[in-house]
Amino acid sequence: MNSKQISMVDELNSSKDHTVKVRILRVWKNYSWDNKQEIRSISMILMDQKGSKIECNVNKSYYTPYLKLFEEYVVVYIRNSTVGKHLGKIKYVDHEKQMYFKQDTTVTKCNDFDDPTYGFRFAKFQEILDNSHPCDSSMDVIGKVVDMEPLEKNKSFNKDTLQQNLYLEDLSGIRINVTLWGSYAQELVDYVANNQESKCLILIIQFAMRKTFNGATYVNNSMVGTKLFFNSDIEEVNTFKKELLSLDANHTSSSARTIGSLSTNYLRDEFMVKNKLYNISALHEIESGKSGIVFGTIKQLDGDTWYYIGCSNCRSKVPTESYNGSSSNNEVVCSKDKCRNLKVTAKPYFLVKVLVEGLIGSVILTLFDKEINSILNLSSIDLINKQEKIGKPTEFPAELYDLIEKKFAFKINVKTSPYGYRTRYYNISRFNDDLDIISELEDLELKITLSEQGINEDSLNIDISDITSTVPISSKDSTSFAGDNTPLSDTAIGI
Ligand SMILES: [Zn+2]
Repeated sequence: MNSKQISMVDELNSSKDHTVKVRILRVWKNYSWDNKQEIRSISMILMDQKGSKIECNVNKSYYTPYLKLFEEYVVVYIRNSTVGKHLGKIKYVDHEKQMYFKQDTTVTKCNDFDDPTYGFRFAKFQEILDNSHPCDSSMDVIGKVVDMEPLEKNKSFNKDTLQQNLYLEDLSGIRINVTLWGSYAQELVDYVANNQESKCLILIIQFAMRKTFNGATYVNNSMVGTKLFFNSDIEEVNTFKKELLSLDANHTSSSARTIGSLSTNYLRDEFMVKNKLYNISALHEIESGKSGIVFGTIKQLDGDTWYYIGCSNCRSKVPTESYNGSSSNNEVVCSKDKCRNLKVTAKPYFLVKVLVEGLIGSVILTLFDKEINSILNLSSIDLINKQEKIGKPTEFPAELYDLIEKKFAFKINVKTSPYGYRTRYYNISRFNDDLDIISELEDLELKITLSEQGINEDSLNIDISDITSTVPISSKDSTSFAGDNTPLSDTAIGI
C-alpha cells in the first residue's frame, strides 16, 4: 500500500473518502432496543500510528464480512470510509467527527504498526479534581488502589446494579474517588479475590468518565467503552510501579508492606472500628446475620486434607478426578446455573481447617483460598506441585504447619443453618495478619476479658460445645450449599 494514500486520523474530513491504517482499541456491539438478540451496529475506537483516535460506527448492513477482523488490538486498513457528525452522547476520544462505513468500504488485516499498543493519555489527578476536564468526554487514569469499600448493590436504577467505590492515588499522593458500576465492579472484585498475593494493585481505567456529585468529583466507567487494566505487564504499569518503589525506598517511615497494601485503612476500620471484638467463648453472642471480630492463635491443623477441587468460575466443589495436574486442560462441567454456558476448568483451592485458640475458648475455622494465599504468597497449585516433587502429595505441606503458633484476627459473619438445625455457621469474610492491628486487638481482648471477669465471673464457664462443630463459609453473600453439606460457596467477594 502506498503510504501517500493513507490518511491520518486527524486529517479526516467529510469532503472525500479516506483510507486509514488503524489499531482497533475497543469494539462493542449495539443491540436493538426492542430485540436484545439483534445487533444494530458495531462501535469501535480506532487509533492511528500517531496515537490519534476516532470512534467508528458500522451499521448492520456493512459489518458482516468483517466481523472476524473486529477484535481488540487487531490492525486493519479501512478503505473508502467516510466521516460525519459524532452522534453519541459520550465522546470517548478527542475527535470532532465519527467514522462511518458505506457500501464500498472494505477492511483488510495489516501486520505492521509501530506505535504503542494502547495509546493511553493519562489525565493528571489534580486536573481531574479541579474539574478542568470536560464531563462528556473520556480520559485515561492510572493509579494505585489505596482503599476499597465493600461491594454494594445500588437500587437507583431499574434493577440492582453493583457499585464499587475505591480511591486511586497517583505518584504524588493525590487521591481521586472512583466508582465502578455493574460488570466493571464485578471485574475488579473478581481480580482482587483471585490475586490475594499481590499487595499492590495498579489500576488503569481507559476511557473513563468524570462526574461531580454533591460537590465531589468522581471517576466512573462508561456503559461500554471503558476498559480496565489490573497490574498488567505493560510498559505504563511497570514504569508506575518502578517509580512507586523508588518513592517507597526514600520514604523511611513506611514499611514496604504497608506502602503496597491494598487496603490497610479499610482493614483497620473493619477490625478496630466497625465491628466488636469477641472472646471465642462468646461467639454465640453474635446474632445471626451480624458480624464480629475474633482473635487467636492457630494451635493445630484439622481435617484430612488441605485443598479441594472446585470450578474455576464459581469455586463450587467438582469431582476430584476432574483435576489432572497443572499442565492439563482440566475442563469440567459445573452444575451451577451461572456456569452453564461457560467453559470452566477444575482447579485446586485451599481449604484448611485450623483450631484457633483465643484467650478464652477455641473454635475450628476454615480458611479458604483468599486467606491462605494472602499469608503464604503461594497458590494451591504451586503447593501441590511442590508436595509432588518431594514425594508427599497427600501430606499437609510444611508451609501450613508453619501457621501453627501464629496469631490472626478474623472477621466472622454468623448465619444459622438453612436446614433449620441449630447449627450456626461462621463465615470468615476478612482475615488479618497486620502486626499493628494484631497487637492492638491483643491488648483490647485482654482489657475486655479483665473487665468482664470483674463484672461476672460466671461468664468464664460458658459451654462452647455448640460452636466447635461449625463450618464457616467463605463468602458473606453466599447462600448456596453443596449437597454434601460442605458449604463451598460462590466466588469470595471482598479483599
Ligand atoms: Zn461453577
